[in-house]
Parts: sequence; C-alpha cells; structure tokens
Amino acid sequence: MEKRVVGRFAPSPSGYLHLGNLLAMLLAWLDCRAQNGKLIFRLEDLDPARSKREYIEALAGDLRWLGLDWDEGWPEQPSFAQSARTEHYEAAFAKLRELGLAYPCWCSRAKRLAAASAPAPGEAQFDPACPCARLTEGERAALFAGPRPPAWKLRAPDRELALEDGHYGLLRQNPAREGGDFVIRRSDGVFAYQLAVCVDDLEMGVTRVVRGRDLLDSAPRQSWLIEMLGGTPPSYCHAPLLVGGRGKLSKRLGSLSTQALRREMSPEAVVGRLAWLCGLRETAEPVTPRELLPDFDWRRVKTGDIAIE
Ligand code: GLU
Repeated sequence: MEKRVVGRFAPSPSGYLHLGNLLAMLLAWLDCRAQNGKLIFRLEDLDPARSKREYIEALAGDLRWLGLDWDEGWPEQPSFAQSARTEHYEAAFAKLRELGLAYPCWCSRAKRLAAASAPAPGEAQFDPACPCARLTEGERAALFAGPRPPAWKLRAPDRELALEDGHYGLLRQNPAREGGDFVIRRSDGVFAYQLAVCVDDLEMGVTRVVRGRDLLDSAPRQSWLIEMLGGTPPSYCHAPLLVGGRGKLSKRLGSLSTQALRREMSPEAVVGRLAWLCGLRETAEPVTPRELLPDFDWRRVKTGDIAIE
C-alpha cells in the first residue's frame, strides 16, 4: 500500500504572515489535499527573542480565515511547537556529535544568532571556511576552559548532492563548497533552524515539504542531514516568491500582512488573487481553496519570482 502523504505548515512567529507566506501555505495545502494527505501544523518558535506572542496568536486564525485547515498539530497540540521539543534536538545533537559530524565554533556571536531562524532572502547562513573546524584538541580544550561557550557547527558534506525538487527540477550542490559548514546550535544553547527542521520533519513523519523558494538552497543539506539522523528524507517542492517593487517581500518589512489584508479583503478575494498571481487561474475572481482543488496542477504554477504592486 502507498504510504499516505504527510505535509506540513511550518510558520515562524517572527512577524504576521504576509502575502508571500500565504501563497506558500496555499500551495502546501493544495498539494497535500490533492493527494489526500495528512497536514500538520508546526510552530517554528525556536528563537525566543524573535517569537512574539501577538504573532503566535494570529497565525492559526489567519490560516483558518483564508480557508486552510490541518489535521494535527499546533495549537490544539502544544507539543508541535519547536519551543516544546528541545529534548528531541538534544538527542539529535548528541547523535551528530557521536558521528563526529559536529564541532564547536567560537567565531563571532552575531552570525551565530541568526541561525535560529530560517535564512531570510539573500542572507548567507553558512560559513565557507571556519577556522574552528581545524583546531587541535589542545586549542579546543583551552577555548572550552575560557569564558565564552561555543556555538556548534555541522561539517557539510564535500561531495555533490542531487535533489529533485518537485517544481524546480534537479538541483546539484556540493554543500561544503557552496555554503560550507553550518550552525546547528547557537552559543546561547538555542538550537538552529537547520537542525530543528530536520529533526521535526523526520520525527513527525513528513513525506512532503512545500515552502517558499528562498529555502530551496537549504534542501540538499536538510535531506542529507535527515539521512545522517537515520531517516528517509521527504520530497521537496518549492513555491515561487512574491516580490514587491523594492525587492523581495519580507515579513520583516511588515507590509501586506494578513492582519492588514483581513481589514480590506474577503478571504476568497485574497485566494483568487494569489491563484491568479501564481498561474493557477486566468483571472483574479474570488475563489475558495477547496474550489481550486479539482484541477490543481503544479505545471501551471509559475517558477519565476512574481512581481506585485
Ligand atoms: N519557519 C520557516 C519560515 O517561516 C519555514 C521553514 C520550512 O518550511 O522549512 O520561513
């Protein structure tokens, strides 16, 4: 018997959802529902400093308002929040250390801090050459005895990985050369996005990841990391990004937040506009997510960035 598809929504509460997030979530929903799959809601609230209560409270309501539903997870099951899953990340971290894949890094703190969040568009999260990878045991012992706790990094594999993205096709990447080693735990103990997302997708039985194309570059190393942890990676299918006149729309800009949209438009009008913008519909007529299901087809979804005014 074919295994049931398990998809997920994995928003970070570091801002209100914006239109670009909604497009990715709509496509994740359509992809999963079209395959009769199970959909999980996971709250990616790893970074205590950036996860704000008002954003957390708005998330589920905003998605439901749009007409999206899910079968399992947050907020009914609080254990689906990353902040409640530290012991799972501890166990994976211990395993990676045992495998000799993780090493301590004492480089600048600012760079390490960003690691708890998924990379923002254009943000480099990987260090091409970290001197800490080549410290001797003696040098390491001296640094461990010092006042600064280290961050922890994973040695990126130095070979070409091939990943077949469901929408963008074959991606070849040598993680060690393109990006390099990456942070899995910050020096303040907070686990990094790149580790948590893999542990969660693996343990939650996710078989299908649909999310914005800004994370396409992370997919080969995530797929590899899931294998290192003893799991079978999901298939990945990335969604096009919405770009505004001034470059990529970022929730950090706060523009076009779902909260603002809700004051001016009906959910059907928003879904209709998204469906038209991404190529699923020829006009921006109001429509519900469910009405888009019968003829949902990734081949009609654009691949290039989508400009909005
Ligand atoms: N939490 C990430 C974000 O909101 C998404 C991570 C993922 O889908 O892998 O950007």
